Amino acid sequence: MPWVKEDQCKGCGICVNVCPVNGAIKMVNGKAQINNAICTRCGKCMEACPTNAIRPNSENPAMRGVGRGGGSGMGRGMGNGTGRGQGRGMGGGQGRGMGRGRSGF
Ligand code: SF4
Ligand code: SF4
Repeated sequence: MPWVKEDQCKGCGICVNVCPVNGAIKMVNGKAQINNAICTRCGKCMEACPTNAIRPNSENPAMRGVGRGGGSGMGRGMGNGTGRGQGRGMGGGQGRGMGRGRSGF
């Protein structure tokens, strides 16, 4: 679900107009505010915002740590597999996967 980076929101209201869900995003004190309970995460507001103020949750500092660094790796092949995982989220969490391969025996 998206969130609004308030300092980047200039209150133009475009996001409110493009949102297909009535009330999912509204202006509060001149800033857009998303009602996550009904937002369908369609992403239209994110696309429409001229200042890029609507950001994916992975960039939400309040959500930091969620999904961060949690890489899952897959090892393949003979002997040692090396895994590559990807962490998601802000702070560039990089996951390290441990590869488990078969030695062949
Ligand atoms: S489109 Fe962007 S700048 Fe305009 S009100 Fe919505 S979040 Fe704020
Ligand atoms: S993601 Fe879609 S449903 Fe949610 S606030 Fe933005 S435009 Fe509305």
